[in-house]
Amino acid sequence: MDELSIEKSLRPQYLNQYIGQAKLKLELGIYIEAAKSREEALDHVLLYGPPGLGKTTMAMVIANEMAVNIRTTSGPAIEKAGDLVALLNELEAGDVLFIDEIHRMPRMVEEMLYSAMEDYFVDIIVGQGPTAHPVHFPLPPFTLIGATTRAGMLSAPLRDRFGIVSHMEYYTIEDLSDIVIRSADIFQTEIHDSGALEIAKRSRGTPRVANRLLKRVRDYAQVQSDGIVNQKVADAALSMLRVDQKGLDYVDQKMVRTMIEVYGGGPVGLSTIAANIGEEMETIEDMVEPYLLQMGFIQRTPRGRIVTQLGFDHLGYPINN
Ligand code: ADP
Repeated sequence: MDELSIEKSLRPQYLNQYIGQAKLKLELGIYIEAAKSREEALDHVLLYGPPGLGKTTMAMVIANEMAVNIRTTSGPAIEKAGDLVALLNELEAGDVLFIDEIHRMPRMVEEMLYSAMEDYFVDIIVGQGPTAHPVHFPLPPFTLIGATTRAGMLSAPLRDRFGIVSHMEYYTIEDLSDIVIRSADIFQTEIHDSGALEIAKRSRGTPRVANRLLKRVRDYAQVQSDGIVNQKVADAALSMLRVDQKGLDYVDQKMVRTMIEVYGGGPVGLSTIAANIGEEMETIEDMVEPYLLQMGFIQRTPRGRIVTQLGFDHLGYPINN
């Protein structure tokens, strides 16, 4: 199997295969069943949370459960109003339009989406100069599923047009362990529960990370051992990758170390940290910081970020005072 088909096969297809996110699954299950029995399109859905938690996967699951087609795109890819009209034009009744990074749509496109979402039409201007005239373009009922890493970045009028708004949570170690076991099964890799648990513990609560680490541990097991993933092999492989016991990777560790060594643990502003460690501010806000906050290693204060006692301890620095 090539990488792309492996990637596809890793994605659960239906709600009952989707591991974790119990509250979201329960709610969606009800709304999907109700919409299906009324033979209506499902209400628009907004999924928000850190990258790699399964937003795209959930959009595909919803389409499968509703037995409709799904078109996928992303906010930055819809540059002009015409791009949006082209996408909407392809939809059949009940279909799902999935827009990843929906907070990054141009303003004009976003405004066109309002009437599309609310009343299933768009008004477009055809022609230029004196011959320009509006054309009313009706649409079939459809479901917009938007995904974003930060709901706060969405304008209120757009956010308000989603009937179902759901926050995706970081996964528990037990759920991640189940995901690792399921993926190992797809890879046809033998894995012990202890090996799955070790990978789960170090996956930053994120299925995408869990799958990525599993692939590397599998390589290690194949070359350095007998191919079986157990706790010892997982630990050795992950230590080689510099993923620590709590799942902090090189960039996470570098961020906290810099905050401690250069700024005495803070407070320090995000842009200063970004410049110091050579990462984009957006990367830090979306991918690095949320996990460090969740683990309690750093905190946000009005004057900037600070490293907590727990953060000092975890990285082996003496107490901050
Ligand atoms: P997002 O859109 O939130 O960035 P994705 O939907 O692309 O995340 O998921 C990342 C990867 O994690 C996918 O390859 C998918 O196979 C896997 N994954 C996500 N959620 C789950 C889940 N609940 N169960 C099993 N695998 C999952």
